[in-house]
Amino acid sequence: MPLLEVKDIHTYYGHIHALKGVSLTVEEGEIVTLIGANGAGKSTTLRTISGMNKPRKGEVLYQGSPIHKLPADKIVGLGIGHVPEGRRIFPRMTVEENLDMGGFLIRDPKVVQERKEQAFTLFPRLAERRNQKGGTLSGGEQQMLAIGRALMQDPKLLLMDEPSMGLAPVLVDFIFEIIQKLNQQGKTILLVEQNARLALQIAHRGYVLQTGQLTMSGPAKELAARPEIQEAYLGGH
Ligand code: ATP
Repeated sequence: MPLLEVKDIHTYYGHIHALKGVSLTVEEGEIVTLIGANGAGKSTTLRTISGMNKPRKGEVLYQGSPIHKLPADKIVGLGIGHVPEGRRIFPRMTVEENLDMGGFLIRDPKVVQERKEQAFTLFPRLAERRNQKGGTLSGGEQQMLAIGRALMQDPKLLLMDEPSMGLAPVLVDFIFEIIQKLNQQGKTILLVEQNARLALQIAHRGYVLQTGQLTMSGPAKELAARPEIQEAYLGGH
């Protein structure tokens, strides 16, 4: 049984039919990437999995059970973490308070403390800035904080929406190393990326989304080798 199975989901924003029958699977232990042009529906796919948008039709199964009718906080509790597009950290809260927000379902304060320390081990920059307000962090630090916040629940599946967006190349490399490290530590990852080249380098498999529909899928290396992908998403090289 796949860890995650998305079956023929249709998601709307009012009259806008954003997802027109998207089906995909993610196996435990995989990094799967979803690539596509702006507006293709990548974020909407992640938001439909994490319960922020509800599909009008179709199903989302997690460990074999339907979750698409559950509220978002219940889905977090099942072990699905979401690092949203644009990071969405709380700018007026400190780094530590932002992490606390990620651990809102954890009852035991000792566990919250342990998880925060794990985040600080993964991102020493955040440890140095633990009392600084989120809004004063650099873009890269905010991305680290968004990832750290999603990790507070110790999710099995991490949904990551364009984690490299707006970052300097050295930070993009760092974030991609972190994604691989998390995967090696046992996290399953569904990664939405504008940087298709890097995403296909670290992913096991990929899907291509075009105006709300999947057009291609396969092992990441095979996708990266296809001329039509190179032309459309890898800058023709
Ligand atoms: P991007 O990289 O630009 O975020 P994307 O592939 O993630 O693109 P989505 O953000 O999922 O695409 O958007 C899919 C479609 O849904 C687009 O046509 C977009 O304009 C529309 N859409 C997204 N969010 C909303 C919203 N809140 N209200 C109305 N339409 C929306």
